[in-house]
Amino acid sequence: MDGNKKNSNNMESNKTDANFHNLLEILQKNLNHMPTVERISMENKDIETRAFKVLISTILSARTKDETTREVSKRLFKRIKTPEDLINIKEEELEKLIYPVGFYKNKAKHLKKLGEILKEEFNGKVPRKLEDLIKLPGVGRKTGNLVITLAFDDYGICVDTHVHRICNRWEYIDTKTPEESEMELRKKLPKKYWKIINTLLVSYGKEICSPIAKCHKCIEEIKKSCPYYDKLSCINQILDKYGFKSIPKNNIPDERGTYVLKIKLNNSKNIVYGKNKLERFERGYYFYVGSALGNTNNLKRRIERHLRKDKKFHWHIDYLLEHGSINKIYISKNAVECKVSKELNFLKSIDGFGSSDCNCKSHLFYLKP
Ligand code: SF4
Repeated sequence: MDGNKKNSNNMESNKTDANFHNLLEILQKNLNHMPTVERISMENKDIETRAFKVLISTILSARTKDETTREVSKRLFKRIKTPEDLINIKEEELEKLIYPVGFYKNKAKHLKKLGEILKEEFNGKVPRKLEDLIKLPGVGRKTGNLVITLAFDDYGICVDTHVHRICNRWEYIDTKTPEESEMELRKKLPKKYWKIINTLLVSYGKEICSPIAKCHKCIEEIKKSCPYYDKLSCINQILDKYGFKSIPKNNIPDERGTYVLKIKLNNSKNIVYGKNKLERFERGYYFYVGSALGNTNNLKRRIERHLRKDKKFHWHIDYLLEHGSINKIYISKNAVECKVSKELNFLKSIDGFGSSDCNCKSHLFYLKP
C-alpha cells in the first residue's frame, strides 16, 4: 500500500473510531434505565455479597426480560444468601423460586452445582479471574466479564449479541461473532468505556437498535451519526429515485419492469453455485436486482419463479434463495436494472451475480444485519 493511501485509510479509521466514541457518549447522556444486574451491584457494598448476587442475577438474566430478572432476583435473594444456601435448597424449590426466567430448569441445575463448586474449590467465594469464572456451570465469557466489571470493579468487556450487533452497525469493528467482537474491542476500545459499554448498548439494543432496528424511535443525535442508518437511507433514496414501490408477495402485477428482492439469510452458509464456485454467504440481508422486460416473461412470472421452492436451478440467485427467504419485493416500471446496481455499489457486492449482457460488477449486494 502506498504512503498516501495508508494515511488516508488511517484518517478514515480515526474518524470512524471518534464517531463511535461520540455515539457512546450520547447514549450515556441519555441513559435513563438501569438494568437489574447493575442495580444489584450498586446496592451491595460488601464485595463478597455483591459478587455472589451479581453472578447469580447475571445467570438468571440470560434470555429473560429485565423486569422478570428483577422480580425473581428479589424473591430469590430473600431465601438464598450464600453458596451454602444453594447446596441446601431442593432443586424443585429452586425451580419454583426462579420461574419464569428463561430455561429455569437448566438454570436451577446450574445454580445447585454452582453452590457446590464455590464451596469446594473457591472457599465459598466467587473467583475474581475470568479463567476461573468461565469454568463455573452456566457461566460463559459474557457472564464472567460482567461479574469482573460489576462485582469487582475491574476491567472486562462483556459482549453479548446486542453489543456485538451495534458495534458492527456503527462500523467500529467488523466481526462475525460476539467472541470475535470481544477480542477486537479489547484491542481498540479505550479503557474508560470497558465497564459501561455493556450497560449502554444492551439497554439500547433491546429497546431501539434491536435486530430489526426501530430507527424511527432512535435519538435524533444518534441517527445523524449512525453509519447503518446512513446506509438504510441511501438504499431507500435510490429505490425512490428510480420509482420503486414495495409490493406484497401475493399481488405481483402482470407487467414489465425492474425488481429488487431483499433476501434474508438467517445463518451464515457456504454455498456452491454456478460451475462449482464456492462462496461464504454471511447472515444478513442481500439485495438482488433483476429485470423482466419481456411481454410474457414479465415481473409476475419472474418473481413468482424466485418465490417457488420447487424450481430447477438456473440462475446463480436460485442457489442463494434455497437458503434465504424473500423478505421484501420492490418493483419499478422503469428499465433501470444496471443503473440501480451501479448505485447500490456502496454496499458490498458479491461477484458473479451480474447479468450476462451487462458490464456491472454485480447485481447482488450484502448488508450486515
Ligand atoms: S438509527 Fe437505527 S440503526 Fe442507527 S442506532 Fe438508531 S436504531 Fe440503530
